[in-house]
Amino acid sequence: MQNPILQDLLSLSHELGREDRGLAMLGEGNTSARLAGETFLVKASGTCLGTLKEDDVVECRSSALLPMLDKESLTDQQVDDALLAARVDPKAKKPSVEAVFHAWLLSLPGISFVGHTHATSVNQILCSPRAQDFSGRRMFPDEIVCCGSASVFVPYTDPGLKLAQAIRRESEAFIGKQQRRPRVILMQNHGIITLGATWQSVLSAMLMAEKAAKVFVGAAALGGPVFFSQENIARIDSRPDEAYRQRALKM
Ligand SMILES: [Zn+2]
Repeated sequence: MQNPILQDLLSLSHELGREDRGLAMLGEGNTSARLAGETFLVKASGTCLGTLKEDDVVECRSSALLPMLDKESLTDQQVDDALLAARVDPKAKKPSVEAVFHAWLLSLPGISFVGHTHATSVNQILCSPRAQDFSGRRMFPDEIVCCGSASVFVPYTDPGLKLAQAIRRESEAFIGKQQRRPRVILMQNHGIITLGATWQSVLSAMLMAEKAAKVFVGAAALGGPVFFSQENIARIDSRPDEAYRQRALKM
Protein backbone atom coordinates (compact mmCIF):
# COMPACT_ATOMS: atom_id res chain seq x y z
CA MET A 1 0.00 0.00 0.00
CA GLN A 2 1.11 3.56 -0.77
CA ASN A 3 2.50 5.69 2.04
CA PRO A 4 -0.46 7.85 3.29
CA ILE A 5 1.72 10.99 3.28
CA LEU A 6 2.57 10.35 -0.38
CA GLN A 7 -1.14 9.89 -1.10
CA ASP A 8 -1.89 13.21 0.62
CA LEU A 9 0.87 14.95 -1.35
CA LEU A 10 -0.49 13.59 -4.65
CA SER A 11 -4.03 14.70 -3.68
CA LEU A 12 -2.78 18.21 -2.87
CA SER A 13 -0.81 18.35 -6.13
CA HIS A 14 -3.76 17.22 -8.26
CA GLU A 15 -6.07 19.77 -6.62
CA LEU A 16 -3.56 22.61 -7.11
CA GLY A 17 -2.89 21.52 -10.70
CA ARG A 18 -6.55 21.46 -11.78
CA GLU A 19 -6.72 23.35 -15.06
CA ASP A 20 -10.03 25.08 -14.22
CA ARG A 21 -8.48 26.70 -11.14
CA GLY A 22 -5.78 28.66 -13.01
CA LEU A 23 -3.22 28.17 -10.21
CA ALA A 24 -0.50 26.35 -12.17
CA MET A 25 -0.08 25.14 -15.76
CA LEU A 26 2.58 23.00 -17.50
CA GLY A 27 5.49 22.55 -15.06
CA GLU A 28 4.56 25.49 -12.82
CA GLY A 29 4.48 25.20 -9.06
CA ASN A 30 5.59 22.52 -6.64
CA THR A 31 4.55 20.74 -3.45
CA SER A 32 6.22 18.97 -0.54
CA ALA A 33 5.45 16.95 2.59
CA ARG A 34 7.44 16.16 5.73
CA LEU A 35 8.14 12.53 6.54
CA ALA A 36 9.04 11.03 9.90
CA GLY A 37 12.74 11.47 10.64
CA GLU A 38 14.53 14.16 8.72
CA THR A 39 13.49 13.53 5.14
CA PHE A 40 10.73 15.02 3.03
CA LEU A 41 8.98 14.42 -0.29
CA VAL A 42 9.15 17.09 -3.01
CA LYS A 43 7.94 17.33 -6.60
CA ALA A 44 10.61 16.53 -9.17
CA SER A 45 11.81 19.24 -11.55
CA GLY A 46 9.82 19.58 -14.79
CA THR A 47 6.86 17.44 -13.69
CA CYS A 48 3.23 18.60 -13.79
CA LEU A 49 1.17 19.14 -10.60
CA GLY A 50 -2.13 18.11 -12.19
CA THR A 51 -0.86 14.68 -13.28
CA LEU A 52 1.82 14.09 -10.61
CA LYS A 53 2.62 10.39 -10.09
CA GLU A 54 4.55 8.49 -7.44
CA ASP A 55 7.79 8.48 -9.44
CA ASP A 56 7.51 12.27 -10.02
CA VAL A 57 8.10 12.72 -6.28
CA VAL A 58 11.59 12.64 -4.73
CA GLU A 59 12.52 11.88 -1.12
CA CYS A 60 15.28 14.25 0.05
CA ARG A 61 17.36 14.66 3.20
CA SER A 62 16.84 18.09 4.81
CA SER A 63 20.32 17.95 6.32
CA ALA A 64 21.81 17.94 2.81
CA LEU A 65 19.97 21.15 1.81
CA LEU A 66 19.54 23.35 4.91
CA PRO A 67 23.26 24.22 5.32
CA MET A 68 23.16 25.89 1.88
CA LEU A 69 20.97 28.64 3.35
CA ASP A 70 24.00 29.96 5.23
CA LYS A 71 26.27 30.02 2.17
CA GLU A 72 27.08 33.49 0.83
CA SER A 73 26.92 32.36 -2.79
CA LEU A 74 26.99 29.11 -4.70
CA THR A 75 27.17 28.61 -8.46
CA ASP A 76 24.16 27.13 -10.27
CA GLN A 77 26.23 23.96 -10.73
CA GLN A 78 26.94 23.68 -6.99
CA VAL A 79 23.22 24.07 -6.21
CA ASP A 80 22.35 21.41 -8.82
CA ASP A 81 24.95 19.02 -7.39
CA ALA A 82 23.58 19.55 -3.86
CA LEU A 83 19.98 18.90 -5.05
CA LEU A 84 21.03 15.62 -6.65
CA ALA A 85 23.11 14.60 -3.62
CA ALA A 86 20.14 15.24 -1.28
CA ARG A 87 18.11 12.39 -2.83
CA VAL A 88 17.64 9.30 -0.67
CA ASP A 89 17.36 7.14 -3.82
CA PRO A 90 20.09 8.09 -6.31
CA LYS A 91 17.94 6.74 -9.16
CA ALA A 92 15.09 9.17 -8.36
CA LYS A 93 14.40 12.22 -10.55
CA LYS A 94 16.04 15.58 -9.85
CA PRO A 95 14.26 17.55 -7.10
CA SER A 96 12.74 20.94 -7.95
CA VAL A 97 15.18 23.86 -7.65
CA GLU A 98 12.77 25.17 -4.99
CA ALA A 99 13.43 22.12 -2.77
CA VAL A 100 15.64 24.30 -0.53
CA PHE A 101 12.79 26.58 0.56
CA HIS A 102 10.51 23.56 0.95
CA ALA A 103 13.11 21.96 3.27
CA TRP A 104 13.27 25.12 5.39
CA LEU A 105 9.49 25.70 5.61
CA LEU A 106 8.93 22.05 6.56
CA SER A 107 11.41 22.53 9.41
CA LEU A 108 9.03 25.07 11.06
CA PRO A 109 7.04 23.68 14.01
CA GLY A 110 3.58 22.47 12.98
CA ILE A 111 4.25 22.54 9.22
CA SER A 112 3.84 19.22 7.38
CA PHE A 113 2.75 20.30 3.88
CA VAL A 114 3.77 23.14 1.54
CA GLY A 115 2.28 24.19 -1.81
CA HIS A 116 3.58 26.72 -4.32
CA THR A 117 1.77 28.00 -7.43
CA HIS A 118 1.77 30.91 -9.88
CA ALA A 119 -1.95 31.60 -9.28
CA THR A 120 -3.29 33.91 -11.99
CA SER A 121 -5.27 36.41 -9.90
CA VAL A 122 -2.69 36.52 -7.11
CA ASN A 123 -0.01 37.21 -9.72
CA GLN A 124 -2.09 40.02 -11.25
CA ILE A 125 -1.55 41.81 -7.94
CA LEU A 126 2.02 40.60 -7.28
CA CYS A 127 3.01 42.02 -10.68
CA SER A 128 1.38 45.37 -9.82
CA PRO A 129 2.39 48.30 -7.57
CA ARG A 130 -0.23 47.16 -4.98
CA ALA A 131 1.42 43.85 -4.05
CA GLN A 132 2.27 44.94 -0.50
CA ASP A 133 -1.30 46.15 0.16
CA PHE A 134 -2.58 42.68 -0.70
CA SER A 135 0.02 41.03 1.49
CA GLY A 136 -0.33 43.17 4.61
CA ARG A 137 -4.06 43.98 4.62
CA ARG A 138 -7.27 41.95 4.86
CA MET A 139 -10.74 42.47 3.35
CA PHE A 140 -13.17 39.75 4.59
CA PRO A 141 -13.51 37.19 7.43
CA ASP A 142 -12.83 33.97 5.50
CA GLU A 143 -9.60 35.45 4.21
CA ILE A 144 -8.43 35.72 7.83
CA VAL A 145 -9.71 32.22 8.73
CA CYS A 146 -7.84 30.53 5.85
CA CYS A 147 -4.90 32.87 5.11
CA GLY A 148 -4.15 34.33 8.56
CA SER A 149 -4.22 38.00 9.58
CA ALA A 150 -1.32 38.95 7.24
CA SER A 151 0.96 37.28 4.72
CA VAL A 152 4.74 37.28 4.40
CA PHE A 153 5.91 39.53 1.52
CA VAL A 154 9.14 38.67 -0.31
CA PRO A 155 10.50 41.30 -2.74
CA TYR A 156 11.47 39.89 -6.16
CA THR A 157 14.47 37.56 -5.86
CA ASP A 158 16.20 35.25 -8.36
CA PRO A 159 14.58 31.78 -8.02
CA GLY A 160 16.66 29.07 -6.35
CA LEU A 161 19.02 29.51 -3.41
CA LYS A 162 18.76 33.34 -3.24
CA LEU A 163 14.97 33.07 -3.12
CA ALA A 164 15.12 30.41 -0.38
CA GLN A 165 17.35 32.73 1.66
CA ALA A 166 14.95 35.67 1.14
CA ILE A 167 11.96 33.50 2.16
CA ARG A 168 13.76 32.49 5.36
CA ARG A 169 14.71 36.11 6.15
CA GLU A 170 11.21 37.54 5.58
CA SER A 171 9.45 34.62 7.33
CA GLU A 172 11.69 34.90 10.40
CA ALA A 173 10.92 38.64 10.57
CA PHE A 174 7.18 37.87 10.27
CA ILE A 175 7.29 35.22 13.02
CA GLY A 176 9.25 37.60 15.27
CA LYS A 177 6.65 40.35 14.78
CA GLN A 178 3.40 38.33 14.69
CA GLN A 179 4.41 35.59 17.15
CA ARG A 180 2.83 32.97 14.87
CA ARG A 181 3.77 31.02 11.82
CA PRO A 182 2.59 32.31 8.44
CA ARG A 183 -0.04 30.54 6.35
CA VAL A 184 0.72 32.46 3.15
CA ILE A 185 3.96 33.76 1.61
CA LEU A 186 3.72 36.12 -1.40
CA MET A 187 6.67 36.51 -3.74
CA GLN A 188 6.69 39.69 -5.82
CA ASN A 189 6.53 39.08 -9.62
CA HIS A 190 6.53 35.33 -9.00
CA GLY A 191 3.76 33.58 -7.02
CA ILE A 192 2.40 32.25 -3.76
CA ILE A 193 3.34 29.63 -1.16
CA THR A 194 0.85 28.24 1.37
CA LEU A 195 1.84 26.04 4.31
CA GLY A 196 0.12 24.09 7.06
CA ALA A 197 -0.26 21.01 9.22
CA THR A 198 -2.56 19.22 6.73
CA TRP A 199 -2.75 19.11 2.95
CA GLN A 200 -6.31 20.44 3.20
CA SER A 201 -5.15 23.58 5.02
CA VAL A 202 -2.56 24.23 2.29
CA LEU A 203 -5.26 23.87 -0.39
CA SER A 204 -7.79 26.04 1.54
CA ALA A 205 -5.26 28.85 2.00
CA MET A 206 -4.35 28.69 -1.71
CA LEU A 207 -7.95 28.75 -2.93
CA MET A 208 -8.95 31.51 -0.49
CA ALA A 209 -5.92 33.64 -1.41
CA GLU A 210 -6.83 33.28 -5.09
CA LYS A 211 -10.43 34.30 -4.29
CA ALA A 212 -9.19 37.25 -2.19
CA ALA A 213 -7.05 38.33 -5.15
CA LYS A 214 -10.11 38.36 -7.41
CA VAL A 215 -12.02 40.39 -4.79
CA PHE A 216 -9.07 42.79 -4.47
CA VAL A 217 -8.79 43.36 -8.23
CA GLY A 218 -12.56 43.92 -8.57
CA ALA A 219 -12.72 46.22 -5.53
CA ALA A 220 -9.69 48.16 -6.82
CA ALA A 221 -11.56 48.78 -10.09
CA LEU A 222 -14.35 50.41 -8.01
CA GLY A 223 -11.96 52.66 -6.09
CA GLY A 224 -11.14 50.22 -3.23
CA PRO A 225 -10.57 47.89 -1.63
CA VAL A 226 -11.96 49.00 1.71
CA PHE A 227 -9.66 47.11 4.11
CA PHE A 228 -10.43 45.74 7.57
CA SER A 229 -9.05 47.72 10.51
CA GLN A 230 -6.61 46.00 12.87
CA GLU A 231 -9.50 45.80 15.40
CA ASN A 232 -11.71 43.97 12.86
CA ILE A 233 -8.89 41.51 12.18
CA ALA A 234 -8.14 40.89 15.87
CA ARG A 235 -11.85 40.30 16.54
CA ILE A 236 -12.25 37.70 13.74
CA ASP A 237 -9.02 36.07 14.88
CA SER A 238 -10.34 35.60 18.44
CA ARG A 239 -13.97 34.52 17.77
CA PRO A 240 -14.75 30.98 18.93
CA ASP A 241 -16.99 30.28 15.90
CA GLU A 242 -14.07 31.18 13.59
CA ALA A 243 -11.80 28.85 15.58
CA TYR A 244 -14.42 26.12 15.11
CA ARG A 245 -14.45 26.74 11.34
CA GLN A 246 -10.66 26.55 11.29
CA ARG A 247 -10.77 23.13 12.96
CA ALA A 248 -13.51 21.94 10.59
CA LEU A 249 -11.33 23.00 7.66
CA LYS A 250 -8.36 21.12 9.20
CA MET A 251 -6.49 24.44 9.47
ZN1 LIG B 1 7.57 29.39 -8.80
